[in-house]
Amino acid sequence: MKKDNKSSLTNEYSIKKSYDVIVIGAGPAGMMAAITASRGGKSVLVLEQKDIPLKKIYATGNGRCNYTNLTFDKKVFRGDRTEFAYDAYERFDNKALIGFMKGIGVISKDISGYVYPYNEQARTIAQALLFECRRLGVSIICSSRAVDITTNNKKDDQSRFSVIADKQEGFTCRDIVIAVGGKASPTHGSDGNLNKVIRRFGHEILLQRPALVPLTFEDKKYSDLAGVRLKCKITLMIDDKETEKETGEIIFNKDNISGIPVMQLSRYATKALDEKKDVSLKIDLFPDMNEDELCKLIKESDSDMSVSEALSLITNEKMAGFVVSDYGLNEIKVSQAEDKIYKAVSVLKALSVKINGDCGFNRAQVTSGGVDLNQINADMGSKLVDGLYFAGEILDVDGTCGGYNLQWAFTSGYIAGSTLAK
Ligand SMILES: Cc1cc2nc3c(=O)[nH]c(=O)nc-3n(C[C@H](O)[C@H](O)[C@H](O)COP(=O)(O)OP(=O)(O)OC[C@H]3O[C@@H](n4cnc5c(N)ncnc54)[C@H](O)[C@@H]3O)c2cc1C
Repeated sequence: MKKDNKSSLTNEYSIKKSYDVIVIGAGPAGMMAAITASRGGKSVLVLEQKDIPLKKIYATGNGRCNYTNLTFDKKVFRGDRTEFAYDAYERFDNKALIGFMKGIGVISKDISGYVYPYNEQARTIAQALLFECRRLGVSIICSSRAVDITTNNKKDDQSRFSVIADKQEGFTCRDIVIAVGGKASPTHGSDGNLNKVIRRFGHEILLQRPALVPLTFEDKKYSDLAGVRLKCKITLMIDDKETEKETGEIIFNKDNISGIPVMQLSRYATKALDEKKDVSLKIDLFPDMNEDELCKLIKESDSDMSVSEALSLITNEKMAGFVVSDYGLNEIKVSQAEDKIYKAVSVLKALSVKINGDCGFNRAQVTSGGVDLNQINADMGSKLVDGLYFAGEILDVDGTCGGYNLQWAFTSGYIAGSTLAK
């Protein structure tokens, strides 16, 4: 075993050829499935293609790991069959997860409803899950990618599944959990490499798209705003119709807009773009004032000021400059510009940015789409192949920002593992 901090957490002792359960993927969903199956007395092997388990966890919540949330409503999970995810959540919810974490030594901290490990270090969660696996005797092999899975379909056969892993001899097991993630953030290991094998079992994979991802704009003029951060309300416009709305801080970058509200809307934007619809963001930079109130505020400025100077007192200076130059209001004094102030205000209340794409899986935090839930039982087992289970982001569930994606990974992993523990 290597000696650095992260890889010393892998657990390669006592490797056998055959197990009750093999889990493919040592992400949060796979580790939770492994722990719960093992607690039920099953022998478990986890295969992980990256050099360490739980590689993505270290990057979550900016290294702090926002693993669940105290607030929950029926908008936090998205996908074609969200009721499936809510039913699962009822069986292993945020309180159950916080309790589970406490049981493996992770004390939690609540920051405005967002739940983190107490020391706000993602590493704590990774370590605790690894130590629990070690305590239970779960075997984990890293740098080992499962490349093929076959089944003989014999109901009570201990060697019902055969797994071929690169750089290893094959393994057999009675039951198998596929917890390989979606396609988001492939540097952390989730890249869709097992999709072909999953489809061969007869499973549909609904189109996987980047979600929780920055959106790119068509018009290069917005590059001038790079670095501008603004609290605002944004409305996703699809074919000129208002759809979802979000409020919070957005950030203009060289060719894209990021920030939580944009990320939250992105899964709908990417879908609409795929459907060849017109997509734009309508940005209201003053959501708590109407146009008249905003005009009044500007007109109350020193009448010798230019409109640009007056605007820069109430919004970001770069944004003020952008609005006046783009709409021909340069150098005009507040006192001379009654109608033009209205024009500037209408832009500040509804800046329209046409969207032409997203920043792709490399920048996405999660994947929308995945294994079709119509072919999955409530216990996460396949309706098509006995002994085949799925957990986590590979399934057609994606969550909003706030800890809901990790909650889903742990919830589905828990249900798959506890089914197998029986
Ligand atoms: C930068 C970033 C920040 C995030 N922050 C948060 C946050 O704060 N809160 C939140 O709730 N969510 C967050 N997420 C999302 C969350 O991390 C994921 O939804 C979650 O990790 C999914 O868990 P999973 O176990 O299903 O898949 P993954 O975590 O993707 O794990 C899948 C594992 O399977 C392995 N694998 C894939 N194919 C094979 C194979 N053939 N053989 C062996 N192993 C394989 C991969 O290497 C990987 O380790 C964030 C994501 C990113 C990228």
